[in-house]
This record gives sequence, structure tokens and C-alpha cells, in this order.
Amino acid sequence: MEAVQRRRVTVRGVVQGVGFRPYVYTRATGLGLAGHVTNTPEGVVAEVEGAPAAVLAFCERLAAEAPPLAVVDAVDHCEVPVAGGAGFTIVASRAGGPARTLVSPDVATCADCLAELADPADRRHRHPFITCTHCGPRFTIVTGLPYDRAHTTMARFPMCADCAREYADPTDRRFHAQPVACPACGPRLRLLVGTPPREASGADPVAEARRLLADGAILAVKGLGGYHLACDAAHPGA
Ligand SMILES: [Zn+2]
Ligand SMILES: [Zn+2]
Repeated sequence: MEAVQRRRVTVRGVVQGVGFRPYVYTRATGLGLAGHVTNTPEGVVAEVEGAPAAVLAFCERLAAEAPPLAVVDAVDHCEVPVAGGAGFTIVASRAGGPARTLVSPDVATCADCLAELADPADRRHRHPFITCTHCGPRFTIVTGLPYDRAHTTMARFPMCADCAREYADPTDRRFHAQPVACPACGPRLRLLVGTPPREASGADPVAEARRLLADGAILAVKGLGGYHLACDAAHPGA
């Protein structure tokens, strides 16, 4: 029987909210390794166990092939006692201790999400809060570390069955994407008008906002990290 080795790998830098745990999962399972990965206040910590050649292959190029939004400052690994067991899992985050990991900035909507946004057949067609593992809000919504949905402002929005399935599927591009939502769950748009502000009646806040802009109104559009002021610059009233 071939010898088995187990190593603990700690990755520091901007490694939370950037798809790093799904990346580790895919890499480890692709090499047939057992073990687990978790977010900790120190960074992402993985333990991998298997044939020494596969363990070495896992550790090599882990930083070089990291997801596009990750910024890896350091990778430490050390041998730990073999624990046995099969399969690779993403385990619940460990809190406590001083937070030393970095939070990803908000990231502009990616090409894949833009394509879904414009696709009438997609369930997120024109969904204003579209996001995935590689784009969307991060710093704006984080309330604590490690970066997990429970430590974001999305914690109050339970995922619908479809979103929960995407979130749990290692082959889905929203696997462990913390801000995942859709028109059936998650935040809603609303339009406030008047003084004091009250919610506008009418079904579609976007259609009503367009009508107001055409009439010369000035709107404050709440986005990630703040407000944009919007008006029709060619309208004399505005
Ligand atoms: Zn995206
Ligand atoms: Zn949903």
C-alpha cells in the first residue's frame, strides 16, 4: 500500500469572498485528495491527505493558479498526522482570535453575470442584485470575519431553493458565493419620493424612476458603497 501524507496549508491575503474555498475544493478533489477547507480569521486553512505526489501537486502552484480576485500574500504548509477518512469538504468557518485576513473590495459585475442579466430566458434576467463567486459586493456588505453569509448584510435574506442549490453545488459558478440572491429571494428595489420620503406606489420602481428622470427629476440611486445622483442633463428643469 502506498504511503499517505497529510499537510495543513494556510493561505493569507485577500482570500475570502473571492471563491478561494471552491477553488481549493476543486483542486483537491481533482487530485483525489481527502480533507477539508475552512475560512478562519487568519485566512483560508486546508488540510489535504493522500499520496505524497498528489499532496505536493496540490501545494505547488496553489497561489499561482488562484482565482482572479484573490491576492495571495503567503502560503504556509506543514505536515500533520494522517487522519484517515475519505472525501473533501468545506467546513463551517471558525471564528475567534485576532482577525488577520483581508476583505475583498466590491467587484464590478462580471461578463457571465452581464450575459445572464440580458438573457430573457435566465431566471436572473434584469435582476438588479445579480452576483457570483467572481463579482458583486464584498467590502460594502461585510459585517464581520471570517467572510461568510452570516457575517454580511445578506444574513437576513434566506436563500430560496434554487439559490441554495447553486450555493451548495461545487460545479456551479455560484458555489459558496455569499451574496447570492434572485428575484424570488434577497433584497428588493424600492423608490422613495416626497418629503418626508415615502414608498412610491406602482409596480415597477425602475419604470417609475425612468418616468421621473424624463420629467426632469433628480434621483439618488443607492448602489454599492454610496449614492449616485442621476438626472437628464439636457432637461432645463433638472
Ligand atoms: Zn459574476
Ligand atoms: Zn433565490
